Amino acid sequence: MTLIPGDGIGPEVAAAARRVVDCVGAGIEWDVQEAGVPAIETHGSPLPPHVLDSIKANRVALKGPVTTPVGTGFRSVNVALRQDLDLYASVRPCRLYPGVPSRFEGVDIVVVRENTEDVYEGIEFEVGSREVTKLRGYLSYMHGFRLAPDAGVSIKPISISATKAIVDFTFEYAKRYRRRKVTLGHKANIMRFSDGVWLETGERRAEDYRDVGFEAIQVDELAMWLAWHPEEFDVIVLPNLYGDVISDLCAGLIGGLGVAPGMSLGKDYAVFEPTHGSAPDIAGQGLANPIAMILSAGLMLRYLKLDDAANSLEGAVAGVLAAGRLRTADLRPSGEPARTTEVADAICAALEHRPL
Ligand code: NAD
Repeated sequence: MTLIPGDGIGPEVAAAARRVVDCVGAGIEWDVQEAGVPAIETHGSPLPPHVLDSIKANRVALKGPVTTPVGTGFRSVNVALRQDLDLYASVRPCRLYPGVPSRFEGVDIVVVRENTEDVYEGIEFEVGSREVTKLRGYLSYMHGFRLAPDAGVSIKPISISATKAIVDFTFEYAKRYRRRKVTLGHKANIMRFSDGVWLETGERRAEDYRDVGFEAIQVDELAMWLAWHPEEFDVIVLPNLYGDVISDLCAGLIGGLGVAPGMSLGKDYAVFEPTHGSAPDIAGQGLANPIAMILSAGLMLRYLKLDDAANSLEGAVAGVLAAGRLRTADLRPSGEPARTTEVADAICAALEHRPL
C-alpha cells in the first residue's frame, strides 16, 4: 500500500495511523513515498512521477496532508492527484463518537462531493487581463451582459455526465452501507443552467434508486438545517464548492477537523486522507490529533474488504474516545492534553483486547 506521510503534521499523524493499522494485524505492507515539502527538497517537485507510479501500481494510498505551495509555480498536490488519478468522488463520513464534545447527538452524515467540475475546475480569468477584457466584450456583444471592468471571473461548468457519475456513486454507496436517504443540495433557482443540470440529472437518476429515500434541497436551507437538526441527515451529495464548505461544516458538528476522516475515489484508484490540512501552527510538536488519519486508514481497510480489521479499528477508536481520558488539545480536554503518540498507543492497547 502506498503511504504518503505528507508534511506539516502529516508525518506525525501518518506514523500514528501506520502503527494502529499494524496493531490491527491486517497484514498491510507499506510503500512509503515522499510528497509535499520534503519531496520538493529531495526531488525538486511536490509530487514526483514515481509517487504517482507507486499509487497506480498499488491502486490504493493512505495520505497525510500536504501544504499547498503558494507562489512557487507548483500545482497543488491534492488537485494533481485528483486530476491525474481521476478521483471524481470525495467522501467524508461525519459520525459523532460518544465522548467527543459536541452540541449535538446522533450525528452520522456522509458528505459526497463531486471533485472534478464546478468553479474549482480552474477556468479563470484574472482581473484586468487581456482575456477578461475579451470575455467582457464577447458577453456584452453576444448576450448584452455587463461585466464590471474590475471583475475577475471563475467559470462554473456542471455536466450531465459528471453529475450522473457522482449521483450514481452516491446511491450505490447508500445501498452498500444500508443508508436510508440521499439529500441532494443545489442552488438551481439562481444558477439555472449549471445547478439546473445538477438538480435535473440528480432527480432523474433518483428514479432508478427508489429503494433509497431521496430529497433535493437548496444549499443555503441545507446549511440552516444542518446547524439546527443535523441528526435528520444521512448521505448528502453536493457539487464541488458546496461540498467543500458543507463537509467542513459537518466536521464541526462531530468535534472538528481532528476527528474527520475522508477518501477520494475514482474508478481505478482510491486515496484515503483526513479532511484537515498540514496544520503548520502545531506541526512538529506531537500535539496533532491522529484520529482523523486513523479513521481514514479504517476507511481504507473497509475499501479493501478487510471488514473485520476495519470494525476492530473503529471499535478501538470509539473505545478510546468514549473513555475520554486521552484527548488531544483540539478536543478540549479538562486536564493535560494527550500527545499524538499516546492516542495511537491507547488505540493499540484497546486493540489487544479486540482480537480479529
Ligand atoms: P488546517 O486543516 O491545516 O488547520 C486548520 C486548524 O485546525 C488549525 O488551527 C490546525 O491546528 C487545526 N488542526 C488541523 N488538523 C488538526 C489535527 N489533526 N489535530 C489538531 N488540530 C488540527 O487548515 P489550514 O491551516 O487552512 O491549511 C494548512 C495547509 O494545509 C495549507 O497549505 C492548505 O492548503 C493545506 N491543506 C491540505 C489538505 C490536504 O492535503 N488534503 C487539506 C486542507 C488543507
